[in-house]
Amino acid sequence: MDTEKTKCLIVGSGPAGYTAAIYASRAGLSPILYEGMEPGGQLTTTTKIENFPGYPDGVDGPVLMEAMKAQARNLGANIRFGAATAVDFSGGTLRVTVDGKRQIEADAVIVATGAAAKYLGLESEQRFKGRGVSACATCDGFFYRNQDVIVVGGGDSACEEATYLASICRKVYLVVRKDHLRASKAMQARVAGTSNIETLFETVTQEVLGDDNGVTGARVHRNDGEERVIEATGFFVAIGHRPNTEIFRGALELDEEGYIRTEPGTSRTSVPGVFAAGDVQDPHYRQAITAAGSGCTAALDCERYLLGL
Ligand code: NDP
Repeated sequence: MDTEKTKCLIVGSGPAGYTAAIYASRAGLSPILYEGMEPGGQLTTTTKIENFPGYPDGVDGPVLMEAMKAQARNLGANIRFGAATAVDFSGGTLRVTVDGKRQIEADAVIVATGAAAKYLGLESEQRFKGRGVSACATCDGFFYRNQDVIVVGGGDSACEEATYLASICRKVYLVVRKDHLRASKAMQARVAGTSNIETLFETVTQEVLGDDNGVTGARVHRNDGEERVIEATGFFVAIGHRPNTEIFRGALELDEEGYIRTEPGTSRTSVPGVFAAGDVQDPHYRQAITAAGSGCTAALDCERYLLGL
């Protein structure tokens, strides 16, 4: 296998990876960054981003990611297409295999492989992604002001998204497959206390409905056999996220959900010289700006590590 040595390897290309590359480049670490399967990360699947500071009129997700990439490249980052397919952190040397055929030996590694929202897996859901189907109320809720929307899920995310959307939208239907919510008592109380949220228990989505303009509603099925159509222009899926950590299982300490564990207040993982940034280590905030911030933290931690501080 082809082997290459580098001081700093960054795996992943969302806001965390590119920001780490910007900082590592300016620190003279000549980082190599592999973009992964989805160059630019989750933001490339969104349209307008209105909450990233510095863009008074908003910015399209793909445009923002291209700008971050160009900035990292202009500062000297070596950005490559390719995905990490295996790692070996068991010896003193940190080894990462790329595309199953190239081995990088790095003095330090920054993991920024992100997370992916889980979807229901319906063909109709796929068809209306970005045209009414979303997995992020904070990102897209604003576009449904004074309209009716559906939120699917029964955990803290679904309840949080439903209450957030209820403050913007006319009505929120919370579609829950069980006869109870999994969310914390506090979140359940917030949902119960919000008059424009209607919770539909024991209800499963059969199909997302729509036309050329996007989502018009959903056909749902209740456990007692009743079927109905809910009219809504937004369909928010909030059934959890899956961190992209399969290749790190056994190599880095992960939490019960599979997120990389970092030392509180730092980006340090369980392996010296390996740092984690962005959604891969953050089950809670999951914002572009928090990911970018943690990418900066990881590059600074990495720089200090390489200096032996
Ligand atoms: P969870 O895994 O906690 O909940 C997922 C929910 O989606 C469950 O209700 C589950 O149903 C439902 N679900 C899963 N698959 C399907 C499906 N195919 N169809 C319909 N429903 C489905 O994920 P969350 O994202 O809500 O939370 C992740 C973690 O983050 C948790 O630890 C949570 O506490 C935390 N969090 C905390 C927040 C806060 O404190 N403010 C805010 C957001 C998240 P079922 O119950 O039937 O399995």
